[in-house]
Amino acid sequence: MQDCLFCRIVRGEIPAAKVYEDDEVLAFKDIQPQRPVHVLVIPKKHVTSLAHATPEDVPTFGKMLLVANQIAVDQGSPDGFRSIINTGRVGGQEVMHVHMHIVGGQEPVGPMLKR
Ligand code: AMP
Ligand code: ZN
Repeated sequence: MQDCLFCRIVRGEIPAAKVYEDDEVLAFKDIQPQRPVHVLVIPKKHVTSLAHATPEDVPTFGKMLLVANQIAVDQGSPDGFRSIINTGRVGGQEVMHVHMHIVGGQEPVGPMLKR
């Protein structure tokens, strides 16, 4: 995906504060952190959203879940974190490349959804 923001980060065309990387997955700090710890975990392969996922994506998505806790601990959220994946219009997805937010810090992140 030539113009996709997160694909450009994967290719190194746009700088990002990387905190984890392997052959399938990249994690970097969110540019507008909502909590003391706010990291985005993405597949290196372009997948637009969870609404576009295929069985082929299962191992990579599994890896994204597997690395989340270690990233949270390393970044300063040793006692848990919240992971969020926004999908499509209703989910409020802004960047059309699947990403999992990891948010946390020393204090609880608060209620799951605002009323
Ligand atoms: P979402 O609403 O789930 O699509 O979240 C998109 C997230 O991407 C937001 O939290 C943005 O702050 C973040 N973001 C946008 N551009 C960048 C960037 N260049 N580097 C890091 N995070 C970004
Ligand atoms: Zn992409």
